[in-house]
Formats: sequence, structure tokens, C-alpha cells
Amino acid sequence: MNICPRIEVDSNKLRHNTEIIVGLCKKNNIQSAAVTKVFCGIPEIAEAIVQGGVNMLADSRIDNLKKLAHLKIPKLLLRLPMQSRIAEVVKYADISLNSEIATIEKISKEAVRQNKVHNIILMIDLGDLREGVWESDAVGTAGEILKLDGINLMGIGTNLTCYGGVIPSKENLGLLSEVATRIEKEFEIKLEIISGGNSSSIYLLQREEMPEKINHLRPGEAIVLGTESAYGEIIKDTYQDVFTFVGEIIELKEKQSIPIGKIGVDAFGNKPTFVDRGVRKRAIIAVGRQDVQVEHLKPIDENMMILGASSDHCIIDITDADKDYAVGDEIRFGVDYGALLQLMTSEYIHKVTK
Ligand SMILES: *Cc1c(COP(=O)(O)O)cnc(C)c1O
Repeated sequence: MNICPRIEVDSNKLRHNTEIIVGLCKKNNIQSAAVTKVFCGIPEIAEAIVQGGVNMLADSRIDNLKKLAHLKIPKLLLRLPMQSRIAEVVKYADISLNSEIATIEKISKEAVRQNKVHNIILMIDLGDLREGVWESDAVGTAGEILKLDGINLMGIGTNLTCYGGVIPSKENLGLLSEVATRIEKEFEIKLEIISGGNSSSIYLLQREEMPEKINHLRPGEAIVLGTESAYGEIIKDTYQDVFTFVGEIIELKEKQSIPIGKIGVDAFGNKPTFVDRGVRKRAIIAVGRQDVQVEHLKPIDENMMILGASSDHCIIDITDADKDYAVGDEIRFGVDYGALLQLMTSEYIHKVTK
């Protein structure tokens, strides 16, 4: 019997999704850095992605890149480096996204010490208001970076649709291209990478509206869930069920819909409300809010309904389910990005790669 609760990863479907996204990128002369953070950089999962033909692997956490050190493919650190961890950044990342010259100076010293050249992609904030220098400061900062030893200014990049929800467009990515040209002219160099964002930029490829100079993307969600994140649409020919969550029934009983007694607050201090559907068949699954926000799980059997959860228990109405269940049976769920992130991060969830 397989152990529950677990998340199953279908590596064939994952490789397939990767091939589709890589293909879309290649058609537009774009390199792809597959983002591994949502699954905490688990090596077996990353390997399926490497087989799908990506150009590099990318993660926001240096701890995850460490787990991938044995894979012979360039590694990109997505989150701006912490000064307290520069030695690891230089050791485990070939490339990092940066916006602070003080940090890049520290990387420069460490790269020289480790006898390495570390590649920098300078982040430009195009309005999403997360990381990046302002567009008007880009040329000045590039000039500072170019003076440093042990550092290669590999390119520039931007991140959108994360904090501010700003959607990538011909206009804002056009501005990124323009900034690249400004830097190239000013210093008479060629930037190797113009990195035009994450899974929210994929729709521009589908519409053939990606500015020509953009030659690099950093898709995560598009590969693992087969969805683009500007409009939440499914990407053609991809699977949405690479990952499946499986929980086990630990109690199965018929109970009424409304609790008995004076109702105060639930385990989290919220006052619950209930709909009276009469007596229902209710399954308790051994998983809870310590592992996942259960609202982000979707039973594969659409006739089931998640009623609620406490820290360790999730209650599901299975009265109308397609088949008869018994205690000890498994129930399967689809996941969205939020659920996947939490389940992968929970040490209580077993991760099974098939
Ligand atoms: C998380 C992240 C990505 C990947 O985002 P998706 O929406 O999963 O494609 C790309 N770039 C940066 C800088 C990130 O932090």
C-alpha cells in the first residue's frame, strides 16, 4: 500500500509539458530557464525537466540550487542574493539576478577569491514594483558592474505579474529591449541575455507579440501546471495534472450538516457558517491546514465537496461520489499553484515521482 498523504509527480507528463514550453520558446529564438522553486528543487523532478530540453535551471533559493549541483546544466539564482550567503551564491549559481551594486561588489570579491567568473543579469523594474533598478538608472548601474573583476554582465531582465500584477506587453517588454540597446550602444558590448519574465509572458509567444530582442524567459508554472499566468489560461497540448495529491480516509460516517450546540469559533478563531443539506456521507482525510489551504485542492471526482479543515483533518462530503468508498481508501485531488507550493514544502507530505 502506498503511503498517504502523498503528492505524485508524473515525470512523463512533466517532460512533455517542458518540451511544449521549450518548443514555444525556441520558435521565437528564446532560451528557457525552468523554475524549480515550487517543488523545492527536488532533483528527480528537475531531471525530468532537464530531459525536456531547457537551457538552464532556475530557483529563488540557494538551498534548492545546492540540491541540483550534480546536474550538468547552468543554474540561475532568481531571488536577489543575500550578502550573508555570497560564498554559496558564487559556488552553486552560475548566474544571478541582481539590482544592488553593493551586493554585486561583494559577489565580485568572492568570485575572484573562488577563481570564477559569476554572471549577472541586472533586473529592471518596469512597474510591477518588486525587484529591479529604475529604467533611468539602468545604464549607470551597468557601467558600475562592467568595472568589476570576476563579474560578467550577462544581460538584463525584468519580472512582472508578481507583486503588482502588471501584465507583460509589447510596450513594457519593448522598453526592456530599448534599455538593452541603450546599454549595448553606450558601452559597445553585446548583452547575451534579455530576460523577459516568467509564465505570464508566455501568452505573448502564443500571440506572436514578443518583442524581437527578448531572448530568454523563466517559466515555472507554465511547465509544472501547463497554465500561463497573465490570464490563467491553459497552454495548448499541455497536461494540467502532472501533480496529484492523494489523501487517505480515516473516518467515514453519515452525519448531519449543522453542528449541534451553541456555535462559537473554529480552530482558527473564525466563526463558521453551515448550509443544511440534511444527513450526508462525510469522509475525514488525514491532511490539514498545517499542510495546505484545502480550498486550493480540487477533488478529481467533481461530485465531492470539501466542507472544511482544521490543522490535521479535512472533511469531505462524498454522498454523491462516483464510487463507494471505505475507510482506508484514497481520495485524489488536483492542485493549483498555491496548493502545490504548500504541499511540496510540507515535510509531512510524501513526494513520489513516477
Ligand atoms: C518565481 C519566479 C519565476 C517563475 O514564475 P512562474 O510564474 O512560476 O513562471 C520567474 N522569475 C522570477 C524572478 C521568479 O521569482
